[in-house]
Amino acid sequence: MSFRNILAFLICAGAAFAQADHTLGYDNTPLIPNSKWRVHDSSRPRPRVITPGAPVSTPAPSDAIILFDGKDLSKWMTPVKGQPTEPKWKVENGYFEVVPRSGSIQTRDKFQDVQLHVEWAAPAKIEGKSQDRGNSGIMFMTRYEVQVLDSFENPTYADGQAGSLYGQWPPLVNVMRKPGEWNAYDIVFEAPRFKDGQLVKSAYATVFHNGVVLQNRQEYLGDTPHAKNGKYVDHGAEEPLMLQNHNSSVRYRNIWIRKLRGYDEP
Ligand code: MG
Repeated sequence: MSFRNILAFLICAGAAFAQADHTLGYDNTPLIPNSKWRVHDSSRPRPRVITPGAPVSTPAPSDAIILFDGKDLSKWMTPVKGQPTEPKWKVENGYFEVVPRSGSIQTRDKFQDVQLHVEWAAPAKIEGKSQDRGNSGIMFMTRYEVQVLDSFENPTYADGQAGSLYGQWPPLVNVMRKPGEWNAYDIVFEAPRFKDGQLVKSAYATVFHNGVVLQNRQEYLGDTPHAKNGKYVDHGAEEPLMLQNHNSSVRYRNIWIRKLRGYDEP
């Protein structure tokens, strides 16, 4: 092989390697409907970084359902072959922690429209990069994700950062605290409505992160899969809330939820 051929080979091999590295996103995924961006588009602008104010930890109001009070995971289960089993996630010191490769957990109760408060912390010791760093997720109805990720000085694609509606809408800003520090999400989630198997109203989320708005009643374009467009598939009017196990030891504490009803049915 001549020097020129070896050089050409190395350049091709390098290009193939670079293409396989999705740290900063993708350039070969589908376009998002009514958008100029692809799913996880590497060229989509990253949200502006701002510094959060005082820590936000909000005690539950009287009509909230307490999903975690620092003691046990009795409100949660891990489905195994369709059967609810005890979660294997670790509970200690008033929080619980994702145990990698032990499955996701979901509430035993089901919900429709809700207000959710949840506090979470990315691992203090940085392991992995991009989407492998402090990844978990708030999965409304087990399928509409608000991303949980260590977005602190972590280059990754915009629609995968903390507070994104995963693969669809980046957060408006990046207000992430340092690894190991507690963050708070306050989320209003409106469930989609189906009639005769057809979608008649999309799902929406309004997301606050450390008291700062990230999503302003943003529309879910469907569920939130990796590297492809989501779609709506008819499901129950109420479904469990799920916390995603993405094999990062993310911690959670002080989780409460309120069922929302309309102005005509206070
Ligand atoms: Mg996630």
